[in-house]
Amino acid sequence: MPKTKPRKPDADVNLRHGGHATDTCPRCHHVRNKKDQGKLLHGIPELTDSAKLRSVVGQIKDNLMQDKGLVGDPAAVFMMGVLEARISGREYYLFASSGRTAEPWIKPKHLDGITYHPGKWTPANPAIPANNRGWLTVRGEKVDLGADIQGVTRPCSAMKLLLGLGAMHLDWKSVDYLRMSEMVYVGPKAEDAKQMRVWHGRGATNSWTAHSCDGCEARIPYLICDVPPHWIENP
Ligand SMILES: [Zn+2]
Ligand SMILES: [Zn+2]
Repeated sequence: MPKTKPRKPDADVNLRHGGHATDTCPRCHHVRNKKDQGKLLHGIPELTDSAKLRSVVGQIKDNLMQDKGLVGDPAAVFMMGVLEARISGREYYLFASSGRTAEPWIKPKHLDGITYHPGKWTPANPAIPANNRGWLTVRGEKVDLGADIQGVTRPCSAMKLLLGLGAMHLDWKSVDYLRMSEMVYVGPKAEDAKQMRVWHGRGATNSWTAHSCDGCEARIPYLICDVPPHWIENP
């Protein structure tokens, strides 16, 4: 009998947004898990998902589904996102929905019933830059993105969350964590939801969690780089 290989347990339990710690950073050109004298250069070598955040975005989705106001637009399809971070000892909780409408889809009333840090969640709805230039990192530093990124201006929830954090221009001494979860809202009468459905279910631990779109996968690495200017290498 040939030996059968034991099935490998799925080690990749945590969905990542914007690649791995072993990738090279497009902003500072260092490998994202590089250390200097034992300390990581990047405060956020990886942007990961979390079960707690999935519960938050799931509650928001349930609330949206109950919202009679949204029945006015039963064909609505959009991405919802939530972010939590502890930076320099302070905690931040942000939510956002994709789209370019002045009125975001998610309103404060859609946060009812959230058991994870209730009352702490604040909306992020910054303007998305019109091209690849003049973006902000999470640390609030200007950055130009790659000129060849497809969908660079797409108004995704992930971009709103990260730009929203950058717009706070936080005192950036240390990063304990930065996590994000996303989910697709698909209205009952949505017809062209197919393009959103492909974003479903890549998370190893929750089939409802969305992974980031290609445009976000390419943009996120620039935005999460918090390496100070004197460490940035010219390619
Ligand atoms: Zn970097
Ligand atoms: Zn996206």
